[in-house]
Amino acid sequence: MSFFSKATDQDKWKEKYLNLLDEQEQSAESYKEKEDLLCKTIVRLTIATTGLDPLLDPHLLSIRDQLKNGINSQALKDELEKFTTSVSQIKHAPPQVQSLDTELLFDFLLQQYTTEKQQNALKLLKTKAETVKFGTPNQLFIAILEAIEPDDDTAEPNAIATHIDIGIVSKQLLHLLEGIEIPSIFDQQAQIAKQLLATSASTTAFETILDKSFKLLLKIKQHNQSEQQDIDKFLSHITEQLATLDISVMGASTATQKSAENRNKLDQSVSDQMEELKLSSTNATKLEPLKGIINSRLASIAKEIQEHGQKEAIQRQKTQQQLDDLANKIKVMESESSELKSKLKIANNQALRDPLTGLPNRNAYNERLENELARWKRYHSPLSLIVWDIDHFKNINDSYGHKAGDKVLLLIAKQLSDHSRATDFISRFGGEEFTMLLPNTDGQSALILANQLRLTIEKTGFNASGASVAITISCGVTEFTPNDTDETAFERADQALYQAKEQGRNQCCIL
Ligand code: GH3
Ligand code: MG
Ligand code: MG
Repeated sequence: MSFFSKATDQDKWKEKYLNLLDEQEQSAESYKEKEDLLCKTIVRLTIATTGLDPLLDPHLLSIRDQLKNGINSQALKDELEKFTTSVSQIKHAPPQVQSLDTELLFDFLLQQYTTEKQQNALKLLKTKAETVKFGTPNQLFIAILEAIEPDDDTAEPNAIATHIDIGIVSKQLLHLLEGIEIPSIFDQQAQIAKQLLATSASTTAFETILDKSFKLLLKIKQHNQSEQQDIDKFLSHITEQLATLDISVMGASTATQKSAENRNKLDQSVSDQMEELKLSSTNATKLEPLKGIINSRLASIAKEIQEHGQKEAIQRQKTQQQLDDLANKIKVMESESSELKSKLKIANNQALRDPLTGLPNRNAYNERLENELARWKRYHSPLSLIVWDIDHFKNINDSYGHKAGDKVLLLIAKQLSDHSRATDFISRFGGEEFTMLLPNTDGQSALILANQLRLTIEKTGFNASGASVAITISCGVTEFTPNDTDETAFERADQALYQAKEQGRNQCCIL
């Protein structure tokens, strides 16, 4: 690049630089101008809005002061934040009915509704509105409607006095209409009434508009009343349904403890739900949302009942299973016990019976003797005892063997049993000795019976190894005497037996 061309370039750069400076200066001036304009606008706005709300006033003053000393960004930002907070607080405050407007509204109403009842009610309400103050336009509206309700439909409104400020009354009515909840069916009428109230100019038109507005308000009130009646009807229907439900639940419950617990839980839950229903219905002012709440509560109660039913079914199944198990256990125990009984019976029999002859043994004799003695003492009927002993039994064993001896024992046992009375009690006392207890039998009769038996055995004989062997038997007889014990009577019978043996055997002696 040459020196000349370099100088030309430098000039170009200088020019560009100066232009840039000019531009910057102009933009700074314009910025300052805009800033001043903005500050002035804000200051005017703060002046204009002062007095709107006492909450905002100190912030507005402070913003103004800030702007007078030029813009301090941080301080202004802080102040704006405080201001915003105050504005949001104002937003949530309930709209107040202004007392001046209220007074004018009542003046108007008092001239419009002239029956004695309406006048009295309105005057009372006016005093109340001045002293107590109504929180919302809705409350004031309802009170006014109640006060001016006509006794009959013929009552016509008076012509409106000209000195009433139409604008203020319209504004107040508009305020009322905006403040109340309007059922959807009246939406269109309300919209028209609001528009008319907002634009009313002449007194004649205003009279009609006011009349329409009040009639509309009255209709809304009547509608709300009929809706309340619907709610009441619906509620009583629901209460009936719940009562039926409750009865059916009670009927379904069973007697088991677990079921009772489940039932109590369900009761508690249902009564909680009913309590909530009551609360919801008391607080409710609209039928549709109330229906929604009630339906969801009913659904939840129905669900509880269904769950309860399922729990009950499971519980019933469990209880049934337990009962079945128990029944099975009882069956097992019963069969065990009957098995035990029969074993015991066998054991008892074994303990009281002689295995060779099948006759009662000595133990059985002792037991029976005890009973017979008791009976004998009680009824004083005679009781006799016979003690038998096979003659020379040892010889049989010795000559024909022990087995043959056993057969002889068996044979004699059978003969004694077969030829004695059913009431007589025969036992194998031991070895080759037998005893007989004879109730209702005196000594002599017992002796006769004994001799008959002795003869029968003598005649029977015994066949051993092809040879006929004679078998004889001897006995001692005695009758129980009043001073006897079991032992003394036995000793006497035994002595009689000894005597029979002594006298040559095959005979019966009595002592
Ligand atoms: P007596 O006429 O004086 O009564 O003479 P006896 O031989 O019958 O009397 P003893 O008392 O001398 O003998 C009785 C025998 O009875 C002795 C015994 O071996 C026998 N004996 C006892 N019990 C049984 C038994 O169960 N079976 C057999 N086969 N013999 C028995
Ligand atoms: Mg003997
Ligand atoms: Mg003998």
